[in-house]
Amino acid sequence: VKDLRKVYKIGSEKVVALNKINLSIYKGEICCILGTSGSGKSTLLNMMAGLEKPTKGSIEIKSVGIEKMTEKQLARFRQKHIGFIFQSYNLLGALTALENVAMPLIFRGFSKINREKLARKYLNMVGLKDRYKHRPTQMSGGQQQRVGIARAFVGTPEIIFADEPTGNLDTKTSIEVMHIMWKMAREKQQTIVIVTHDPEVALYADKVIHIRDGDIQKIDNRENDDVYEKYILPYEVQYDEH
Ligand code: ATP
Ligand code: MG
Repeated sequence: VKDLRKVYKIGSEKVVALNKINLSIYKGEICCILGTSGSGKSTLLNMMAGLEKPTKGSIEIKSVGIEKMTEKQLARFRQKHIGFIFQSYNLLGALTALENVAMPLIFRGFSKINREKLARKYLNMVGLKDRYKHRPTQMSGGQQQRVGIARAFVGTPEIIFADEPTGNLDTKTSIEVMHIMWKMAREKQQTIVIVTHDPEVALYADKVIHIRDGDIQKIDNRENDDVYEKYILPYEVQYDEH
């Protein structure tokens, strides 16, 4: 991300959501963007994921300048390389858990049989073996978010962006959700960028980018070899036994 700026205009009023942001995130990193409400976290994430256009500056993913792409190119790039997890889950209400998770695989050209097979595998991985046929309204928030995670990871995109993925969950469920994401990302060397205002969530990150009023305050690179032993192992949840 280079000299990134975003100004919103509402009538004659201007809001500088991001001032001048410079940062790099490397392959396989678990990165948190930490900041208070209104600091510009979602704006930054949405631009990195190609969901919004910057006012100025550039974003390169895999050496490709995404702000120069057409909408169509960008949509294809996203389908191929990017997964997204939302605070409010954004599952399709008419579809079952299995159908929601299988959805991104349609754009990746998988056959129906393989889509369902992979979707089942990922639902099992997030501990929802017995919820294939449930629709979003028939599941708890934590379960819906686990469906959201399975959907983001199912096509093994290289990058996963998550906007406050634990924002609507209680502490215990938040920890579970962070564990699932951490382990999945590590297993396949996927890069994950998580927006949060919760310093507890940032404990899982290799890199923490502190953002305030549209500027980067500081970037902490953490020696994170001990995350597994310190934060994951003691709370290990064995979903496969359910
Ligand atoms: P939160 O933790 O509450 O989600 P955030 O850090 O994600 O906050 P942003 O949503 O990125 O914050 O917003 C940053 C600033 O930009 C805020 O002052 C907000 O009011 C403004 N903003 C965001 N989106 C728009 C928009 N579409 N139009 C105008 N202003 C916007
Ligand atoms: Mg936000």
